[in-house]
Amino acid sequence: MITLGKKIGILGGGQLGRMTGQAARELSYGFAVFEPSKNCPAGQVADLEINANYDDHAALERLADFSDVVTYEFENVDVSALRKLEEHVPVYPNPDALYICQNREREKNFLKENGFPHAPYAVVEDEAALSAAIEKIGTPSVLKTASFGYDGKGQQKINTPKPDTAAIWKAFGGSRAVLEGWVNFEMEISVIVAISSNGESKVFPTSENIHTNHILDFSIVPARIAPEIAKKAEVLAREVAQKLNIVGLLGVELFVLANGEIVINELAPRPHNSGHYTMDGCVTCQFEQFTRAVCGLPLGSTELLRPIVMVNILGDTWKDGEPNWAAILQHPNAKLHLYGKAEAKPARKMGHFTVSADTIEKAFTEAQRLKDAL
Ligand code: AMP
Repeated sequence: MITLGKKIGILGGGQLGRMTGQAARELSYGFAVFEPSKNCPAGQVADLEINANYDDHAALERLADFSDVVTYEFENVDVSALRKLEEHVPVYPNPDALYICQNREREKNFLKENGFPHAPYAVVEDEAALSAAIEKIGTPSVLKTASFGYDGKGQQKINTPKPDTAAIWKAFGGSRAVLEGWVNFEMEISVIVAISSNGESKVFPTSENIHTNHILDFSIVPARIAPEIAKKAEVLAREVAQKLNIVGLLGVELFVLANGEIVINELAPRPHNSGHYTMDGCVTCQFEQFTRAVCGLPLGSTELLRPIVMVNILGDTWKDGEPNWAAILQHPNAKLHLYGKAEAKPARKMGHFTVSADTIEKAFTEAQRLKDAL
């Protein structure tokens, strides 16, 4: 167990690292952030910011020297950097879990080998394999790069039954990929599981997620699904986290089908955007739970205090100048969280807000109204 007052090292300096560091501070932990680019959201609030590439061994050693435990908030960290760090300091979640989750091909294979429900898929390494995959999986389907894809980047939907595979493969850039069958889901949901290094585990309430242009737009909690489906999702997410030997957090994104079945879409061994609602909606937020888990503390209650909706604030919101923050700041049940990013680029996650109410319907109506008012 890492006692209070000790130090956490975080690889990746985005908003997830920032909010983790802020929560860690609340429990008196110090924290360092390791991130290639300067003035990152997490670095602004860290005790130590190391700006270096993930293969800079001397810089990694500086992080290990500072830290009593190391974790990461970003999936595209080179796993060999984590293995290097592991020679000096505990690293959670284990590097093998990241190795699986950072690559769609390995992630899908892991789900298949362990009998977890997933969309039908085929691995594509060249144009001939793409034709064979379309033959096997059918259309509509979606071609996704095996690595470095997120928020819909590196994805190409294929709608026609006999598409021009040469043109698709060329436009796609020819990187190794998986072709996934299109899932006609009723709803997207996610579950965040925490497992502490002391072995204890807890699950946050299931979130209903609405995406716009492949980016999370609204998280609605409780999800508007039958309690049995939410329960089934919780059980499944816990099983996956245990299979991956997670210490820390695992975010599990799922599709709910019309017949009530659930299918896993994606795994993330870190805090998750769909868990931001916990900051204002639960007794313990996901970032504090993450801190407790990697430091071996008892986990906190995940009880939901009130129905709540989280809305992402993207860079596009600045298109007509500074957003109308007063709309959120003056609202009696809304909370604003900004990430300290200097430039508001389109589709960039700049912050989020939450709004709670007596019922989820009221919270969602208010969230939509506030989003429009921004
Ligand atoms: P991903 O980056 O894989 O999480 O995909 C981003 C979003 O695209 C998901 O949240 C879904 O809204 C949609 N999507 C991805 N894969 C599929 C699929 N196989 N069937 C239907 N929708 C999908």
